Amino acid sequence: MTQNSESSTPARGALLILSGPSGVGKSTLVNELLRRMEADLSVSMTTRAMTKGDVDGEHYYFVNVPTFERSIKADELLEHAVYAGNFYGTPRLYVEEKLAAGRTVIVEIDVEGARQVKQSMPESFAMFIKAPTEQALLERLRGRQREDETTIQKRFSIAKKEIAFAESTDVYDAFVINDDFDRAVAEIESLVTGHLKAYHG
Ligand code: 5GP
Repeated sequence: MTQNSESSTPARGALLILSGPSGVGKSTLVNELLRRMEADLSVSMTTRAMTKGDVDGEHYYFVNVPTFERSIKADELLEHAVYAGNFYGTPRLYVEEKLAAGRTVIVEIDVEGARQVKQSMPESFAMFIKAPTEQALLERLRGRQREDETTIQKRFSIAKKEIAFAESTDVYDAFVINDDFDRAVAEIESLVTGHLKAYHG
């Protein structure tokens, strides 16, 4: 771990932002990245309903709207956004503590959240994962058999807007196409390694 030369306090860790439309394979990519490198993944808070495979406290902290709103008021969230009609947010304390301890932290958040984090922490490194084509994304959304067709179409329509927004802003430092899993992981790993080298010096 990098140390400040004048003290034994660890140098502040790097914050990595990972975004990409629903169904693009972000979680699988993040899990593989966590297997390959020393980093901690922030668990978000959300008001969306739990779906098949969701574990409370592991994939998300599932809360109700009043609880989420209390967290916003108490300034406990580093960022928050509404996605498909539900609140999502990053608990600030976890991220701050890990960064202060010198750890690399990954947040998996949408474009609005990424915009907010980049504003408050411009030194963070933001990557946006894309599917090779829109059709491929739609097929992946259907393939994971998590939602009904109406929800899938809603998420697909949001995804197209997200991609357009991501490409029209300067929030993202890099865009990665998840065409082939191994290739995409290798590209992300190489981007992160490059960033960490530049960040820690
Ligand atoms: P899902 O419901 O598919 O798990 O997530 C929907 C979207 O919310 C995804 O784009 C995901 O990256 C985003 N998301 C998850 N957690 C957060 C968060 O804490 N903040 C923000 N802004 N977006 C999040």
